Amino acid sequence: MTTIKNLLRKNISNLHPYSSARDEFTGEAMVFLDANENPFNEPYNRYPDPLQKKLKEKVAELKNIPAENIFLGNGSDEPIDLLIRAFCEPGTDNIITIDPTYGMYQVAADISGVELRKVALTTDFQLDTDAILQATDTNTKLIFLCSPNNPTGNSLEKEAILRLLNHFKGIVILDEAYTDFAPGKSLLPDLESFSNLIILQTFSKAWGMAGIRLGMAFASTEIIEILNKIKYPYNLNVLTQQKALELLNNKETVKEWIKLLIAEREKMAEQLKEFPFVVKIYPSDANFLLIKMHDAKGIYNYLVEKGIIVRDRSSVHLCDNSLRITIGTPEENNKLTEALNELI
Ligand code: PMP
Repeated sequence: MTTIKNLLRKNISNLHPYSSARDEFTGEAMVFLDANENPFNEPYNRYPDPLQKKLKEKVAELKNIPAENIFLGNGSDEPIDLLIRAFCEPGTDNIITIDPTYGMYQVAADISGVELRKVALTTDFQLDTDAILQATDTNTKLIFLCSPNNPTGNSLEKEAILRLLNHFKGIVILDEAYTDFAPGKSLLPDLESFSNLIILQTFSKAWGMAGIRLGMAFASTEIIEILNKIKYPYNLNVLTQQKALELLNNKETVKEWIKLLIAEREKMAEQLKEFPFVVKIYPSDANFLLIKMHDAKGIYNYLVEKGIIVRDRSSVHLCDNSLRITIGTPEENNKLTEALNELI
């Protein structure tokens, strides 16, 4: 592949990043008169650690990845946006995504004025690697993959991902937001083997922390340094860092949640396929099911009337007449099946 430095936008390469008061100081200090903070109202008066050292050490241990290969963001949406801004020259460069997939890649590209080329998944929702490689040109900087994919729910075949990593001259971003529901399928153990691989994960799903906004990017130190250079200096606030340090001790509870949610997913798939208006339930490696119906819009509206909100994905490529239903607690899932029962 081309070197990371050659892929980077010139203005980012030449950028002198903002250097915060806390960036410049190392060692032990007793009196902080460097950042124009208010000395009262501890601990909220102080700016947070810009590089989140303590939290990164904890994540490093959890993921078995060195802290220097980790970027922490305000959700994984933050690195999605930062990567496009770092590597793609507006009006010139382009990125590739699979279709259908998570909507934020398109939004982030649109905000930056960067062309996005969609390459359809096959009808069984797998990568068409030939079509993806054919869609690239010398201005293609990034390919976004998502596995397990949203909204289809399936994992992408590893062989196909590796083929893109080996043949594409730019960077492959693999969004693994739902990976905790697909044990053994993450490419994180392969990170070291590919200097052009960036893996995104999040604490918003299996870890139940969507409200505190904490996402991760794993990559070479060169790429992590680029993200650190262009991020807001204090992108993760004090409350998020503190709460995450506490909640990351919940590993055993999270394992139980994952087990329960996977069991509920399988139970729901079994129950829902019996309804006469259900055409197909797609296999899922995530905490949701994509379900093809006879009248998805009608069912969606009916569920809204009952106070149950699901996601209508009918307008999305390959997902006509399909609803995406998140797996809730057993009680919530029962409410859904009870409501649907009243329709027959
Ligand atoms: N990637 C995918 C595939 C997602 O579905 C989502 C959230 N729906 C995200 C990333 C963003 O997650 P976060 O809360 O970490 O920003």
